[in-house]
Amino acid sequence: MPAGLAAFRPRARLDPYSSLTRPITAYPVAGASGTRIRLEDGRELVDGMASWWSAIHGYNHPVLNAAARDQLEAMAHVMFGGLTHRPAVRLAATLIDITPEPLQYVFFADSGSVSVEVAIKMALQYWFARGHSQRSKLLTIRAGYHGDTFGAMSVCDPVGGMHHLFSGVLPQHLFVRTPDCRRDDEWRESQIAELRQHLEHAGHEIAAVILEPIVQGAGGMRFYCPEFLRRVRALCDAHEVLLIFDEIATGFGRTGELFAMHHADVVPDILCLGKALTGGYMTLAATLCNARVAEGISEHDPGVFMHGPTFMANPLACSVAQASIELLLESDWRTNIHRIETALETGLAPCRELEQVRDVRVLGAIGVVELIHPVDMHTLPEAFVQRGVWVRPFRNLVYVMPPYIISDEELGVLTVAICEVVRECC
Ligand SMILES: *Cc1c(COP(=O)(O)O)cnc(C)c1O
Repeated sequence: MPAGLAAFRPRARLDPYSSLTRPITAYPVAGASGTRIRLEDGRELVDGMASWWSAIHGYNHPVLNAAARDQLEAMAHVMFGGLTHRPAVRLAATLIDITPEPLQYVFFADSGSVSVEVAIKMALQYWFARGHSQRSKLLTIRAGYHGDTFGAMSVCDPVGGMHHLFSGVLPQHLFVRTPDCRRDDEWRESQIAELRQHLEHAGHEIAAVILEPIVQGAGGMRFYCPEFLRRVRALCDAHEVLLIFDEIATGFGRTGELFAMHHADVVPDILCLGKALTGGYMTLAATLCNARVAEGISEHDPGVFMHGPTFMANPLACSVAQASIELLLESDWRTNIHRIETALETGLAPCRELEQVRDVRVLGAIGVVELIHPVDMHTLPEAFVQRGVWVRPFRNLVYVMPPYIISDEELGVLTVAICEVVRECC
């Protein structure tokens, strides 16, 4: 641990995916503004992570600050049971407006994981209300990541994911092979064969298929072809199975479309949003659903959706989310994401030549260098910090998804640092 960080060493605190006996350095941050993270020791880092996909407009944004401040003057929070408020009503209308037409209902949740719990619960309650409570299984593809709570963990990759430790106590769901088709590959039926078989043989036990469209995030940063999604939708329709898309990572422009499902022109029955929803300011997520699901749940016993978190639809979070979406839509985000995509492609290309690299892939404002071997998390973050950038790898993946306001010059700094670190330290 570098000198001066001792005061920030975990004592009464557990850091995420870290150990008390062999702690991974956590760098103390004094402030963040634009694309820069300022450490307590005065060093400044170019941010490559957008704080896990979320800070799309950068940090300390005047418009988002103003939205939070204005809302604070009115009220920070009131319970959402029996009371409602303008920030939530407005944000719900906006989300319905910017998502495909069939998605007409919004449930606000406190985090991405909770929005996945809500999506699963919606699907189960829908079938329960329809008198088909035997439809209790979920079907998903391997290498997925849907969050850290128990329902969400049960559909994360069961082997390579972060939660295999818990497999004994999690509900057992159905997993099929992950598509490995690239965007422009010719379609092969073998990509969908296993999923098709499961639906044909066990469709009557399956409540929903859940997956991350086009880009799988923390389960392996894999990209796959749009045709797979079109086939999944058709199969779900044929077997009356609900389809849940988790766009918590991919939503709000990250992949070059406003939502990743637009790459395939496919609409799910239930949609999870989070992460960039508030531009990275605070925790808020949303689960949207269509009339079939909402009415199905409401028309039959118990007739109400059984969920209601204490901080549901927090007004501060809703106001900032509204401002963040407006900021995004007022910008020429599509051209901008394309600019980042081009810079990442050019900047990361030299990594392709390195023998320690298995694959380099870029989609929208996401750049991934997949290595042959896992990285050393005790040394690699420091190698990046020394080069003035903030990149946090996991497993064998060095990846970036920077704030959309990042300049070409900063993208250059980021990608040069990645190629150097991969060449010299991996
Ligand atoms: C981050 C993430 C989640 C979980 O969201 P939290 O806000 O961390 O609970 C779920 N699904 C996907 C695809 C994610 O990237």
